[in-house]
Formats: sequence, C-alpha cells, structure tokens
Amino acid sequence: MRRPDGSRFFYVVVLDENAIMHKRLETAKKAKQDSLTGLLNHQAIVMEINALIQDHCEGVCMMLDIDDFKRINDNYGHIEGDRVIVTLSKALLAEFPNALIGRFGGDEFLLYFVGAKEEGHAEELGKKVVKIMNKIKINGSIPLCGSIGISLSRGGFFSVDEAVRKADEAMYSAKKSGKNQFAIK
Ligand code: GH3
Ligand code: MG
Repeated sequence: MRRPDGSRFFYVVVLDENAIMHKRLETAKKAKQDSLTGLLNHQAIVMEINALIQDHCEGVCMMLDIDDFKRINDNYGHIEGDRVIVTLSKALLAEFPNALIGRFGGDEFLLYFVGAKEEGHAEELGKKVVKIMNKIKINGSIPLCGSIGISLSRGGFFSVDEAVRKADEAMYSAKKSGKNQFAIK
C-alpha cells in the first residue's frame, strides 16, 4: 500500500491454520456440550440418537430423572444440587464408556445403549443405574434416588421422538410406582 507521500508499506498477515482449526474444533465441541457436566446437551443427544436410529442401530433408550431434586436444592442448596448432577454425570460416563449420554434438561438425563435389544439387557441396565445413583450420597450421607424409564427398540424405533416418548412414559410409571426404580416399555 502507499502512504500519502508515495512511499510504500506492507501488511504481513500470518495464518496459523492449525491454531484456527483447533479453535474451530473446540467451538464445535463446546456447542454440543452441556456447560455444567460436559455431557452432550439436549440438542446434541437428540441429534446423535436420531443418527443412530436412522442408521438402524437398535438399542435401549433410557430417561433418568432425579427424585425430589427440588428438595435437594431447598435443603442443601443449589451448589450441592449442582455437585450431585456433576457427580452422577461422571459416574455414568465411567460406568458406560460406550453409551451416548446427555443431559436432557435440569435433572433429566437421556442415554442410548447400542446393541442392547433384549428385555433382560434392559433390566440389567436399569438395576445398574439405580445402584450407581444410590451410591452417590447427598450432603455426604443421603443416597441419591432416581426414576428410570427404558424403551426397547423391539425391531427398530421409527424415530428418536418415539424412543424418547416411550422412555419418558416408562420413567413416569417408575415415579408413580414409588420412585427409585426403573420401568420398561
Ligand atoms: P420428581 O421426583 O417428581 O422428579 O421431583 P423433583 O423435585 O425432582 O421435580 P423436578 O424434576 O420437576 O425438578 C427439577 C428441579 O431441578 C427444578 C429446578 O429448580 C432444578 N434444577 C434444574 N436445573 C438445575 C441445575 O442446573 N442445578 C440445580 N442445582 N438445580 C437445577
Ligand atoms: Mg426430578
């Protein structure tokens, strides 16, 4: 470029393509993550399960809702409530490294286990998750409880909406039957 007096000058722009790429990947990853837990966020878990169903990957869809979470917040504070959510997320990730795990909403989690097709398998998963939850202690002493709804693909889900709706209905059955248990639909 030229200055008003006619002398020349140059701009030098250095592009670090690796750094740009890295930043983009980080941004893309963050857009899919729930900020509190690092799990897939609502949109991402639904999208991922949808992709599996479109690819005909049969499995088990699980909806988990913490029991009486409002009371945990009210009695022990939101920080303890958050800690419980984070602890449960870590425990689920550690126990099920091959499952898709997402935070569906406040105290709700959505999971998808590819390849689990039979009722016995679903029961095993339900029992395991109840155990994982009860091992976590609220305020250091009270076992965490949750209600779990499981839907089985039984030859293939038509859509992610169907898988989630069935899991949600089963979860409400578990709540109605007294909480801290699982139900299969
Ligand atoms: P239920 O057994 O019927 O599920 O009762 P509940 O008290 O768990 O009721 P519900 O699932 O409707 O309540 C969820 C509560 O979770 C409401 C909201 O105040 C709280 N919550 C949502 N997101 C967060 C969060 O990120 N941190 C904390 N600490 N609380 C949250
Ligand atoms: Mg709840």
